[in-house]
Amino acid sequence: MSEGLDAHPDPAEVARLQRARALVMAEIRAACERVGRDPAGVQLIAVSKTVPAERLRAAVAAGLRDLGENRVQEATAKADLVRGARWHLIGPLQSNKTRRAVETFDAIQTVDSTALAVRLDGVARELRPDRPLPVMLQVNVDGDPAKSGFTTRALVASLPEVVALAGLDVRGLMTVGRFVQEPAEARATFVALRRLSEQVRSTDSRLGPELSMGMSADFQIAVEEGATVVRVGQAIFGTRSARAD
Ligand SMILES: *Cc1c(COP(=O)(O)O)cnc(C)c1O
Repeated sequence: MSEGLDAHPDPAEVARLQRARALVMAEIRAACERVGRDPAGVQLIAVSKTVPAERLRAAVAAGLRDLGENRVQEATAKADLVRGARWHLIGPLQSNKTRRAVETFDAIQTVDSTALAVRLDGVARELRPDRPLPVMLQVNVDGDPAKSGFTTRALVASLPEVVALAGLDVRGLMTVGRFVQEPAEARATFVALRRLSEQVRSTDSRLGPELSMGMSADFQIAVEEGATVVRVGQAIFGTRSARAD
């Protein structure tokens, strides 16, 4: 019963998530105020990996319609049970899951190679003609060997081919910050992504202006440095115990 599409979300959970959302939005507004930005220019994605579908129905009812998932299979299963959400892929995409991903997700933030972009373009043109798939290019701006993403150099070299793919709408750049002791240490990463975007866009405006950066620990700093999309999980849904990827 509780997993049925028409089950009503628990009102107490809706209220709790409304409060959590309001707190995060207030932090975003405060960060914008500090640097003279319009808060309307920052989109909140609620990162819902490991959160069961039942709570996500409450999240949608609480106004959290943009959900971020890092596994295709998990998102596909939950998308069947949660109405009214927009799904964003924020984890690595394996080639054998390309079709599934295009079927499930409204946007894919983790395009990390030209080969993946070309595959997504082919599937998107087949499954959603006339509706280019919104994507972001993931950049490993820190050159962290543990992270996926284009290197800065590879991004610059690959961009002309990627932005020419008619099935994709390349909205901007995305990065995952380094693991740091102090949130303030993440600032350099965010500055680097913003500068890269400015540099590339000064010669090729087909790359969109979006900057997806910042998570629970550091989204305020990311907003100060120009994030237009923040990906916040634990500050909304609470601590994730297991499988903290
Ligand atoms: C899990 C995850 C997040 C959210 O992290 P929190 O600490 O829960 O805010 C953001 N971005 C990516 C790529 C993630 O995998």
